[in-house]
Amino acid sequence: MRPTGKLHLGHYHGVLKNWVKLQHEFECFFFVADWHALTTQYDDPSNIEQSVSDMVIDWLAAGVNPGSSTMFIQSQVPEHAELHLLLSMITPLGWLERIPTYKDQQEKLREKDLATYGFLGYPLLQSADILMYRAGRVPVGADQVSHVEITREIARRFNHLYGREPGFEDQAEAAIVKMGKKNAKLYRNLKKRYQEEGDLDSLETARALLKEQQNISLGDRERLYGFIEGGGKVILPEPQPLLTPESKLSGLDGQKMSKSYNNYIGLREVPDTVAVKIRTMQTDPARVRRIDPGEPEKCPVYALHKVYSDADTRSWVEIGCRSAGIGCLDCKKPLIDSIVEEQRPLRERAAEYEGNPDLIRSILEEGRERARDAARDTLDEVRSAMGLSY
Ligand code: SF4
Repeated sequence: MRPTGKLHLGHYHGVLKNWVKLQHEFECFFFVADWHALTTQYDDPSNIEQSVSDMVIDWLAAGVNPGSSTMFIQSQVPEHAELHLLLSMITPLGWLERIPTYKDQQEKLREKDLATYGFLGYPLLQSADILMYRAGRVPVGADQVSHVEITREIARRFNHLYGREPGFEDQAEAAIVKMGKKNAKLYRNLKKRYQEEGDLDSLETARALLKEQQNISLGDRERLYGFIEGGGKVILPEPQPLLTPESKLSGLDGQKMSKSYNNYIGLREVPDTVAVKIRTMQTDPARVRRIDPGEPEKCPVYALHKVYSDADTRSWVEIGCRSAGIGCLDCKKPLIDSIVEEQRPLRERAAEYEGNPDLIRSILEEGRERARDAARDTLDEVRSAMGLSY
């Protein structure tokens, strides 16, 4: 995630709650993409440092757990830059120019000069970020799928250019024998399911099974990854997008919650400000007076009730609004309570970190070390595949 400063409830519902869930289902790497921030903010990097710290506190407040996932800052793992450089050697320019967000973003951010090498190359930097950890899945919204797709193409091109190994199938078979009869049979079944039915879960299970095999070396394991995916040696596995539904959370004015629309509630905003923001929200314009009936579907307050309130409260709003039985302030009250209640544990967790920069530093250092270990393994293989292991 790019460091854009303090996060809001749209980020919480759209991304962070999902991360918190994923960290218990997968081995996760979450990083602050500070180099990515520079691709568009190179002319004024002055607030990046503060944004990094605010964002990390927000992650921790939301429940991203450094014990269950690896959290780090991109620029502190310089291996990302080297992999980006090496991948740039094999990436055709046209692939980058064709990515839909390239032209879109240039249009949107017209006030900035984005005719830069860094901006054109940022999807490739993202590919390096993903391939570095040999990620199986990348949680993205629909608008980012093309970035995962180009990552897959780059991995395929890399493996095709550098992954050829004579006698590869024989070596893979020899490695399978080492797994013992029962595991070998299970592994072959999983391979079949992946290759014939494209069943991604079987790929994951096969990988987990391989990880458990104490007697299989890293090299053999890689050979088997390649074997199951049906190609030559897979140095950089192709990741799959893990589609996450876009946040449904609307902002104070009914549009999507966003900093640029200034219609947001901060993730750890204090209760008094939350109350003021909700109390001053626009409602259905038809309700000029208390006695005028309204239509909840035309009201941004009701859009928030849909996320925050149970069925009974929603029905109380619908009936009360349409019959003018309740006033807008009555309607807003339970919403304020629910939001403040949702934020309570987040604010409490954040308080532990806010006054303790050393703790945050040590979390990020630990994450950096774990990330670098994984990154070095990948880079060793990449360098060697590209003939640079001298
Ligand atoms: Fe909106 Fe509630 Fe007022 Fe109806 S009663 S207009 S839903 S704030």
